[in-house]
Amino acid sequence: MNQRYPSVLLENAVNELATLPGVGRRTALRLALYMLRRDEGYAERFTSALLALRKEVKYCRVCHNICDNEMCGICADPRRDQSIVCVIENIKEVMAIENTGQFHGVYHVLGGIISPIDGIGPNDLEIDSLVERVAKGEVKEVILALSTTMEGDTTNFFIYRKLSPYQEVAISQIARGISIGDEIEYADEVTLGRSIINRTRFTINEE
Ligand SMILES: [Zn+2]
Repeated sequence: MNQRYPSVLLENAVNELATLPGVGRRTALRLALYMLRRDEGYAERFTSALLALRKEVKYCRVCHNICDNEMCGICADPRRDQSIVCVIENIKEVMAIENTGQFHGVYHVLGGIISPIDGIGPNDLEIDSLVERVAKGEVKEVILALSTTMEGDTTNFFIYRKLSPYQEVAISQIARGISIGDEIEYADEVTLGRSIINRTRFTINEE
């Protein structure tokens, strides 16, 4: 059933808001009406923050984390151990692991995981740049901290194979304090922190 809107402007706003993940049309309508109740400055601040984010945000040239400059604060921090690289799917996971306060190495943001169903292959991800980073010879350990899903396992395996020529680099994965099927971003900080400390050497069962 098509909802009737008293204004095309309202309908347009609802249409746009309803494209956000997790926002249905009813919520979109509520948000649009909320915008109308607030002063005009609110909507201006709101939209300009989003526009600035979209237009001006940068990605770290080393780890692909989100940042405001060429290099992110973590990569640029001399106190971080540049020889330990933690591989994660997205920026959300960098934030989740940073919140544990247990990791003092650096990151590599893949930008997703291999998922044939969603049409995401290795070339859509920052895997080559990870291999290039390792090839420079300063990385001693790569920690795989991907979701414990089938896609995560596939991606782990792919990276493991790509890094296999670099025998001197230890490849570990976070301990399975994270339950199978869990998504890293939803893990609580204590569990996630412990998983980093208790990481294990990455192994595969090859027939
Ligand atoms: Zn960085």
